[in-house]
Amino acid sequence: MQNRSDAGRVLSMVKKIIITAAVTGSRPTKEMNPAVPYAPKEIIAAAVECHKAGAAIAHIHVREPKTGKPSFKIEYFGEVLEGIREQCDMMVNLTTSGLFLKGEDVISQRLEPVGLRPDICSLDVGSMNFSDMAFVNPPEWGEAAAKRMRRCGVKPEIEVFDTGHIAQAIDLIKKGLIVDPPYFQLCMGVKWGIAATPENLLFMKSKLPANALWSVLGIGKYQLPMITLAAGLGGHIRVGFEDNIELEKGVLAKSNAEFVRMAVYLARYCGREPATSAEARYILHLK
Ligand code: ZN
Repeated sequence: MQNRSDAGRVLSMVKKIIITAAVTGSRPTKEMNPAVPYAPKEIIAAAVECHKAGAAIAHIHVREPKTGKPSFKIEYFGEVLEGIREQCDMMVNLTTSGLFLKGEDVISQRLEPVGLRPDICSLDVGSMNFSDMAFVNPPEWGEAAAKRMRRCGVKPEIEVFDTGHIAQAIDLIKKGLIVDPPYFQLCMGVKWGIAATPENLLFMKSKLPANALWSVLGIGKYQLPMITLAAGLGGHIRVGFEDNIELEKGVLAKSNAEFVRMAVYLARYCGREPATSAEARYILHLK
């Protein structure tokens, strides 16, 4: 499995597509779609259902169980991580975005999930206006987070919302803070980030380092067109309630797994097979 000199195996991996399920995020509510999970147990169940449907990675935010307010309680992150690991071998990607955190010690709070040693943590490298909020990722944050992830053996998933963010990530790579191959999430269509158009996706892809592994997400109605394009171009893909709550216009998705099943269907039409979690670990150079 870990013998990368096995050329046949490496070639067979080219067609595999890693599907990430972003099951809750911090913005959608049960008022918008009653199936949005809040409590750790609901988040665990949603992730495991997505794994059965073909997702190799769960991207995790946590919420206050009763109100659904975005939370950064390390106990919730720990419960979700353990709960998923008890039930399946799905890879777990914990957020460090902390978009709603305020105060003096935001950086140390944002770094806490890294200490739980999930397989992956998201790493946001650039600042931007994110819909109705400022998403602040100063240079000292990117460096601190990349160093901490490296020390803990956690793979950074570099989230980029515009091309300038890719340039900042390349600077971290050049400083030796991110282990090869870098793994990018191209976030398309966040309000005030780069728009979700085919031209923009090709442009973003053209700016990545040659050895980069890359995945694509699209917000709202752009989710399915963006992942279809990414599947055709050889990238990996992300779906789930964090990015979209409707399966089609006016039709709420009944579960995150419904999106995963749709992603599997679209990927197969592009000649791609969903990677198992073990295959995704191999593709991402993780043990
Ligand atoms: Zn997220």
